[in-house]
Amino acid sequence: GSRYRTDFHEIEQIGFGNFSRVFKVLKRIDGCLYAVKYSIRQLHQNTERRRALMEVQALAALGSHENIVGYYSSWFENEQLYIQMELCDRSLSLHTNPPMSTEKVLAAMYQIAKALQFMHERGIAHLDVKPDNIYMKNGVYKLGDFGFATLLNRTLPVDEGDARYMPPEILNENYEYLDKVDIFSLGVAVYELLKGSPLPDSGTQLLNLREGKIPLLPGHSMQLQNLLKMMLDPVPVRRPSAKKLLENPIFDRVRRSNTST
Ligand code: ATP
Ligand code: MG
Ligand code: MG
Repeated sequence: GSRYRTDFHEIEQIGFGNFSRVFKVLKRIDGCLYAVKYSIRQLHQNTERRRALMEVQALAALGSHENIVGYYSSWFENEQLYIQMELCDRSLSLHTNPPMSTEKVLAAMYQIAKALQFMHERGIAHLDVKPDNIYMKNGVYKLGDFGFATLLNRTLPVDEGDARYMPPEILNENYEYLDKVDIFSLGVAVYELLKGSPLPDSGTQLLNLREGKIPLLPGHSMQLQNLLKMMLDPVPVRRPSAKKLLENPIFDRVRRSNTST
């Protein structure tokens, strides 16, 4: 029989991506709500399966963290990979949300940097940090969608990640500092969240961004603009690590209101 149908009651579809569909479900045995994500296509080939399994293996290896979408279990059924996860309220997708206040963007930035520090210390890079993959649950920001997660210092195919968030070294096939790829992506995500609209995924604006020429964001402090400039530095080693980022005085207020830290 179907483990999915036996163990869960499907309530509604809450999302879909290029590779998967996500449902809000009720787990019959514990009466709690979860999100279940499963691959749209059947994964016939071993390479496809191995790639898909990276997502659950990264989540499982990491263990739980307040700022990472919780992982419960995974299984194959009809050659599709099912992943049972913590149900979040919404993502920060620019297409479905009104502009966020600077204060909220800083809180999200701080909390996602915490998730990145945790991952990077454990030797895993996310490689798909963007507003779509930042979730919100009960006022807490959580990094999700580990579909591109990989071990640090591993080579990877060039086609991974969303072009808009990818630093220049991805094109040069320089993969030495994959943790710094995440820092660049977080920089682009924060820039977009402050601007309230997505950057174009091709053209001069993107090229400028990759060359470190970042248009100023009117109405924001130089402290914040300088921090973004460092995160978006074309040279990976010059970007701050997640740990370094968290020490920035710009987060003093956020740190004080963040009771769990
Ligand atoms: P993409 O190809 O866009 O990266 P994907 O196939 O990797 O997508 P996800 O990004 O993980 O899939 O999920 C697709 C959508 O489902 C998300 O954008 C979000 O709207 C919803 N979703 C995913 N996980 C959760 C969750 N844990 N809680 C609530 N909603 C979720
Ligand atoms: Mg996604
Ligand atoms: Mg994905």
